[in-house]
Amino acid sequence: MDFNLTEEHRLIRAGVREFCEKYVDPIAEMTDDEAKFPADNIRKLAEQDWLGIPYPQQYGGAGSDYLSYAIVVEELSRACAATGFTLEVHTSLACFPLFRFGTEEQKQKYLLPLCKGEMLGAFALTEPGAGTDAAAATTTAVKDGDGYVLNGSKIFISNAPVAGVIVVFAMTDRSKGTKGISAFIVPAGTPGLIIGKHLNKMGIRGALTAEVLFKDCRIPQENLLGGEGQGFKIAMMTLDGGRIGIAAQALGIAQAALDESVRYSKERVQFGKPIGTFQAIQWMIANMATDIEASRLLTYHAAWCYDQGLPYSKEAAMAKLFASETASRQTDRAIQLHGGIGYIKGTKVERLYRDAKITEIYEGTSEVMRMVISGNLLR
Ligand SMILES: Cc1cc2nc3c(=O)[nH]c(=O)nc-3n(C[C@H](O)[C@H](O)[C@H](O)COP(=O)(O)OP(=O)(O)OC[C@H]3O[C@@H](n4cnc5c(N)ncnc54)[C@H](O)[C@@H]3O)c2cc1C
Repeated sequence: MDFNLTEEHRLIRAGVREFCEKYVDPIAEMTDDEAKFPADNIRKLAEQDWLGIPYPQQYGGAGSDYLSYAIVVEELSRACAATGFTLEVHTSLACFPLFRFGTEEQKQKYLLPLCKGEMLGAFALTEPGAGTDAAAATTTAVKDGDGYVLNGSKIFISNAPVAGVIVVFAMTDRSKGTKGISAFIVPAGTPGLIIGKHLNKMGIRGALTAEVLFKDCRIPQENLLGGEGQGFKIAMMTLDGGRIGIAAQALGIAQAALDESVRYSKERVQFGKPIGTFQAIQWMIANMATDIEASRLLTYHAAWCYDQGLPYSKEAAMAKLFASETASRQTDRAIQLHGGIGYIKGTKVERLYRDAKITEIYEGTSEVMRMVISGNLLR
């Protein structure tokens, strides 16, 4: 057993950290305050070859592993969780299903430009009446000649307003339940695809999340992803890997809260001493650091399982559950440690506190993570 990161992993962390100091940190507060999508930085991430990190070079990827990808999401999220999440949705939720289930033609046409960063991807599963219960979806795809016609609506779709392509899940045969769901590749600009407005969120405010509507949206047969009825399986497998990305996002947010807390504990003087000399503060720092290190081990272990070709569904759920709850708990502690200034807008820990919460909700709530973990143990 070797807990050391390889030279490649250390280099990628150092590279992303340098990138963040130069480009992400300076605009992170504005990105949050104005809920402004960091388009220039996403373009720069593409120039660094970081939009297709774990995918083969023949499909435009960097040919690195999933652990490298997790480190990139962690480091980006440490600076700006909205930027980390934008890359996560693109890489885990849009690229993965195309890589794993696409035909060679689909990979060349869609995965290649996604991995090269020529366009962003999105993933549309959730509906107003079908969140955790994805099988309650009412968006339909009806066979019509040499294609399908999609009708219905999706909600909370990240990257949708800027996506060049969306992987969409729709019912092709309602009588079959989950086996009646199919996945489709829907390029931006397809007639009948309507992107609603950017939702005003509590955290990760610079990431774009919107409603997506389908009104007689015609999709050619060649854009069916996997076979008919494979959609639920594709969605669940995609989310398994995505959870490693969300765990990494939560880890980056929590690490930033710790970094800010250590710095402030040394700077802030009360009763004639830095507050870090008080045992109450020392214990907060110790608890934060321990929870964060445990989150990191779970997250990297899940990524390692993915890279080794081992089962990773339970491991990814454990990592997401623990890292997201750590991020919420420890960003709360970070505000406590900062006292009043921590509650004021413009203080980094205030933003981190709001950014952390969503990691317990999307790509499966903490309740769903507990269902996945216990389901694996009790079967
Ligand atoms: C900012 C943001 C971005 C998102 N991005 C995307 C995206 O890109 N693509 C996409 O498809 N979706 C996306 N989502 C949707 C997200 O994945 C869902 O919000 C999430 O899965 C929960 O679904 P829901 O909101 O309908 O909650 P519900 O399913 O209504 O759940 C409400 C509560 O009930 C609990 N619950 C539900 N069922 C059970 C059960 N059987 N047992 C125990 N507890 C249960 C839940 O855990 C939760 O606490 C996004 C959401 C947000 C807020």
